[in-house]
Amino acid sequence: MATVVCPTCGAPRHAPCRSLLDRPLGVLHRGRIADYLALRCGPLPAGAHPHGAMRSAFGSPPAQPWRLPLADLSDLLAVSFPALVMVATAQACGAGDDGLDRLLFAPDRLPQSVDALLYALHDRQLRQEARILAGRRDPIADELGRQHHALRERLDAAQAMLKNLYTDELTAAGILPFPRPSHDTRHIARAWLGRYLQQEKEALVHAAARRLGVPCSASRPIRNVRDKVAKCLDNRWILAPRTAPVEAVLALDDQAFARLVREDAAVEHPRQDTLGHPLLVNRWRDQLTTVLCPLAAGVRSAPAELTPLTRGELRASGAEVGRLTARRRHLAALVRRREESTRLITELNHVMLLAERGDPSHRLIKEAGDTAFRELERRHPDIFRHIHARLARHADGRGLLRLSPPQRSALRREVFAELDERFGSLRGAP
Ligand SMILES: [Zn+2]
Repeated sequence: MATVVCPTCGAPRHAPCRSLLDRPLGVLHRGRIADYLALRCGPLPAGAHPHGAMRSAFGSPPAQPWRLPLADLSDLLAVSFPALVMVATAQACGAGDDGLDRLLFAPDRLPQSVDALLYALHDRQLRQEARILAGRRDPIADELGRQHHALRERLDAAQAMLKNLYTDELTAAGILPFPRPSHDTRHIARAWLGRYLQQEKEALVHAAARRLGVPCSASRPIRNVRDKVAKCLDNRWILAPRTAPVEAVLALDDQAFARLVREDAAVEHPRQDTLGHPLLVNRWRDQLTTVLCPLAAGVRSAPAELTPLTRGELRASGAEVGRLTARRRHLAALVRRREESTRLITELNHVMLLAERGDPSHRLIKEAGDTAFRELERRHPDIFRHIHARLARHADGRGLLRLSPPQRSALRREVFAELDERFGSLRGAP
């Protein structure tokens, strides 16, 4: 599969895929697999299910793929989502040994394994429900229930592993534990002054950073997630090429974007990576949230997860069984995509934090920030005094603020309103 250039990360032929932090990956991007399949199988005839084309190109997964030698299994898992689902399910239900554990839950493959486990979990749940709805409470339904339980446990464990990976990386990079917020009224007064005169503060930071030799692109302020992603991309702190397909999706209007999201959730193969691009992934998740809310209520589920049907609901239907199961399966696919988009956003936030902190400009911008705050205090002693005096009323003998976070926010709004009356003309004027 590595014989084609990766459309997601731009890795050349025969080279491994690269992560957002430009490190070699132990798995291939899905876009690369899709391109490879298109090359091997040719364009699909109209109406053909891509899964069928993949089976004909690579053969069906063997009956018990987890019994393959690990090297062969690794190759199979790289290309076949159905095989990954089979193997992850068997492992959750007790098959395999430590070697299989390491293969499935290696850091690079972990997100794919979580996705496969969730697919299998939904599948067992829906099949068990369909049997019970059809009046067949039999040993097969019981077995599906047992597998569902085993998959739930394995999925929870895999998600905890993913979380621990991030925590360990941030701790090793010295980012965690985060410093505790200051209660010192002088520190808080300075921070509020910067927040009140945001534009002036940003201009001062920018100027100080320039004097320290920081490039404009690294010191420009960010106001939202999109700014932050764009800044990381522009500075090459993260690797995510803006390819022609990415640009095409970026240009879609809301209606066309919604259609693309629905189409993506309707098939498992071939999946592309476009929707997971750092500039698109938040819009993808928002769109899925919008779609899920009205749909979930109609199939007796919560929008965030496929809620099991209650005893009463399991008795209720009859002719409706097939229709309800199909609609719940569609919901499950959307829920799983939403989980994927959330995982990608978590990963993106994680790598942006690592990349930004790892860049030499980070220390210099921090220095520039201190300079800017001192200058702001020097330029606006009246405002600083007013803020500090208001904070001091709520401080203890050591000058530490004694307010809960909501009380602190309420006081800040009050103080800013007072400042607007006295100094409002200064706000927004750098
Ligand atoms: Zn790649």
